[in-house]
Amino acid sequence: MSNQPKLPIYLDYQATTPLDPRVLDAMMPFFTEHFGNPHSTSHSFGWMAEEAVNKAREQIASLIGARTNEIIFTSGATESNNLAIKGVGRAYRSHRNKIITVATEHKCVLESVQVMADEGMEVVMLGVQADGLINLDDVAAAIDDNTLLVSVMTVNNEIGVIQPIAEIGALCREKRAFFHTDAAQAIGKIPIDVGAMNIDMMSLSGHKIYGPKGVGAFYLRAGSRLKPQPVMSGGGQENGLRSGTLAPALCVGFGRACDLALQEMDAEAERISGLADQLLSGLTHSLEGVQLNGHPDNRIPGNINVSIAGVDGEMLLASLRDIAVSSGAACASAVVGPSYVLQAIGVTDDLAQSSLRIGLGRQTTKAEITYAVDHIVGAVKKLRVNA
Ligand SMILES: *Cc1c(COP(=O)(O)O)cnc(C)c1O
Repeated sequence: MSNQPKLPIYLDYQATTPLDPRVLDAMMPFFTEHFGNPHSTSHSFGWMAEEAVNKAREQIASLIGARTNEIIFTSGATESNNLAIKGVGRAYRSHRNKIITVATEHKCVLESVQVMADEGMEVVMLGVQADGLINLDDVAAAIDDNTLLVSVMTVNNEIGVIQPIAEIGALCREKRAFFHTDAAQAIGKIPIDVGAMNIDMMSLSGHKIYGPKGVGAFYLRAGSRLKPQPVMSGGGQENGLRSGTLAPALCVGFGRACDLALQEMDAEAERISGLADQLLSGLTHSLEGVQLNGHPDNRIPGNINVSIAGVDGEMLLASLRDIAVSSGAACASAVVGPSYVLQAIGVTDDLAQSSLRIGLGRQTTKAEITYAVDHIVGAVKKLRVNA
């Protein structure tokens, strides 16, 4: 059994990723000797921390084609999405009152948009096609002179599809609407250029790219008239947009993670793509009724969401004790019921209930995929016999 991988096997990279050891190495000194407050301007402890935070800002900016002064640190993509939607909504709703978003966005976008609707803004919720992609004609038809903000995620966290961000950005530019994208699942996996894609605001998360949890960033295009109203009031840090003392260790870790992603993205995508092919062909060759959810090509390779007809996803998960994957209700596993993302692409409740999201990433090995395929196939066959 030399090929037996170490158990349990982690295949849930959309929920979070393990911290890269090289990231931890970069962070450690900022938990110990370099403990200064980066906002202390009168001594070297503060300067040291500030310098490290600004280097991290530069590393994050490099990954998305931004400038250093366009990166604002936050606690994560949830906070950044709140700042984009509530902050821009509250600052400009007296000029333009409409927000356009998509039914398959992350909960924190949908909930923030709902708050703005409760506060009196008009919200247009676009659907998606059966492949999970937005129809550009729908976007073009929805944007009008009253549209303040369009928010469309770059890569979906449940089904991995990549939206046509550059095309949406061009439409927004043409109609002078602000464009925000939640890129938490995209950075480090596909090339992003905020300039070429006409992105005004972007949300990023540390823990989805082998960095620490509890840190994220908000990209805000400089030189535009855009100034969101802060969600957090206080000492005016981060250009007055996000008050509160920064956590230098977390910022440094996020920066290092972006730096590694920039260097390794291409090779890593190719390797993970090979593993994803192995996984999908392994499942479809041994089992009837396996369907890949979401567009077959416009996707990141590390997110394989499949429906397996005739088995309950929760029961399948329960019989896969050694393999960490998630099922139908993906991100909100506290909530029962079929995933709203799968519903939005027209997957029946039965097939949504029998779906698995298998996430592959930097630490995933061929031996792990071989093990996962064997055990998923075995478990499905057993459940189907007993059904
Ligand atoms: C994980 C995730 C979030 C939330 O990010 P946090 O940094 O955990 O707050 C938001 N959007 C998407 C698409 C995500 O995958």
